[in-house]
Amino acid sequence: MEVKIYNTLTEKVEEIKPIEDNLIKMYSCGPTVYDFAHIGNLRYFVFVDLLKRTLLKAGYKVFQVMNITDIDDKIIQRANERKIDYKELAKTYEKYFFDDIKKLKILMPEKTPHATEEIPTMVEIISKLLKSGIAYKKAGSVYYNIGKYAEYGKLSKLDRRELRPGASVDIDSYEKDNSGDFVLWKGKKENEPFFETDFGVGRPGWHIECSAMSYRYLGEQFDIHTGGVDLIFPHHENEIAQSEMFCGHKTVNYWVHSEHLLVDGKKMSKSLGNFYTLKDLQEKGFPLNAVRLLFLSAHYKTQLNFTIKGLKASENTIKNINEFIQRLYSSGDGKKDISESIAHLKEEFFTHLFNNIDIVKSLARMHDIVNLANKTELDNLTRSSKSKILDAFKEFNEILLVFNLEKSEIIPQEIRSLAEERWNARQDRDFERADDIRNKLTALGYIIEDKKDDFIIRKK
Ligand SMILES: [Zn+2]
Repeated sequence: MEVKIYNTLTEKVEEIKPIEDNLIKMYSCGPTVYDFAHIGNLRYFVFVDLLKRTLLKAGYKVFQVMNITDIDDKIIQRANERKIDYKELAKTYEKYFFDDIKKLKILMPEKTPHATEEIPTMVEIISKLLKSGIAYKKAGSVYYNIGKYAEYGKLSKLDRRELRPGASVDIDSYEKDNSGDFVLWKGKKENEPFFETDFGVGRPGWHIECSAMSYRYLGEQFDIHTGGVDLIFPHHENEIAQSEMFCGHKTVNYWVHSEHLLVDGKKMSKSLGNFYTLKDLQEKGFPLNAVRLLFLSAHYKTQLNFTIKGLKASENTIKNINEFIQRLYSSGDGKKDISESIAHLKEEFFTHLFNNIDIVKSLARMHDIVNLANKTELDNLTRSSKSKILDAFKEFNEILLVFNLEKSEIIPQEIRSLAEERWNARQDRDFERADDIRNKLTALGYIIEDKKDDFIIRKK
């Protein structure tokens, strides 16, 4: 099946044509592990999961690399504040990050390299850029001369008049009107970790990390590069400049960026009090699948306005669909056959998904199925219509992973809550508490079976 996606570079929706047969090589900018991920970060990772699952559903193989930035200004600063080693800080938050990824049922990338373990490739790239006169040394650091790369600015559509070649920029994140020569290698400073190289003692800038890791694990050219829109400039612009001048040709075919998440219509910030991590939402009692569905439910090219009301609505949607599926199991058989309409709506769900991941329309087709079935009344539907509906939902759930489609016995709410509490304890690696709850449930006559992303509860 062909999949279309919006390419930031060409500003067009394009059909994805893999370089190698059926294999899609994808690089996803990963986390800088200096704090808990906030829901804005997590929306991006859920989008990448949706993209990957869509490509897999369309029949492609996907090899995905996601970096872990475990050395950078923010990590070093925070580690120094806490008087701990920067590696220890990075390890701690990396663990929390992967816990969140698991909780949101995000597929693990095939490879998750760490920046600190990829220094030799960064050195290789910087050395070549120095040799070819694209990079230069100044006061112990190495900078990229943006004047030497004629296409600088092509991704973020920078006006060439805005460029200031010769002005060296030492920080990793900066605004467009400060676009000068960016830093590839930062000369050694007091209280900072460092590596020894031929061109000086110091540490890598942020942008070179991704050029090095994508080159090492995906080669000189690959299919898709993902990131949040905030990474278009300067991070991805600089990545293109580094990689293309190092390899001598185009390195990425499709640049894919997901939009921001707003909270209550505003940019999320700690000072506005609208800043959430996944743990915050769990502590408010929201189930993780409601969070996943909410992140999935807006198109990736539109801003997602996160509200608690919206999260409650997602929770309700899941509850309603789960109940609908249970009524489907327990209803009697009738004579009305809607199999054809169901097949058509199911097909449309995927057609929309394959067309630039238009999940909003896909979800609308899913709700159309529920409405159509309810209109006819479930007892009037033929058995085959109902099994078509179930099959459709099973396929939708391979992408969404938020519904419970197993036929369930009637489990009292208090038992279900206990089981959920145990699942969350397991996710938080509180195995002692999880075991206590399991024993309690066994004593009450219930068995829990753990699946990869979920659990099943049934009567003994
Ligand atoms: Zn990156």
